[in-house]
Amino acid sequence: MTAWTPVTTVRFAGFSIGLTVFTLIAAFGEKGFIPILDSANLLFHEAGHLVYGLLGHRMAMLGGTLGQLTFPSIVIVSFWIRRETLSAAVGGVWFFENLFNIARYMADARSQVLPLVGGGQHDWNAIFRQWGVLMADTRIAAWVYGIGWAGLALVWLWVAWRWHSDRLVPVKGPFA
Ligand SMILES: [Zn+2]
Repeated sequence: MTAWTPVTTVRFAGFSIGLTVFTLIAAFGEKGFIPILDSANLLFHEAGHLVYGLLGHRMAMLGGTLGQLTFPSIVIVSFWIRRETLSAAVGGVWFFENLFNIARYMADARSQVLPLVGGGQHDWNAIFRQWGVLMADTRIAAWVYGIGWAGLALVWLWVAWRWHSDRLVPVKGPFA
């Protein structure tokens, strides 16, 4: 198995600073909406409706949310296979950030104040209704939001651990 690409101290610092700025925007900006990134996520959301929609009506409804998570997952898996530490981590950040955006949509299931693209049906109002959990929309959203934060923390810890273990490995000689 190929080794993970080493995380140098400079890169670890860069990743940490980038993630800090990112979390500050996520924490203090509009809840569940990061400009530019979430506009891009919306495209993946709509693409997800189309692609998963091929599997039937139920999947079409969930497809938007699945689409938001599918593309970051592909990024994570492809860089994971190539053992590219920081690129896989960035995929992880993208994945968990999407949960904030998904939670924002979930929390809106009953109140329905968010503007919907195309003015179509509200995904999570329909899904939660079908599941019979519409009254729990904000509670479920709070969990998803929390999982997003825990996930971001885990991604950082993983990179920190990779950086730390790279520090412990002596410089390889010709026979290593
Ligand atoms: Zn949708």
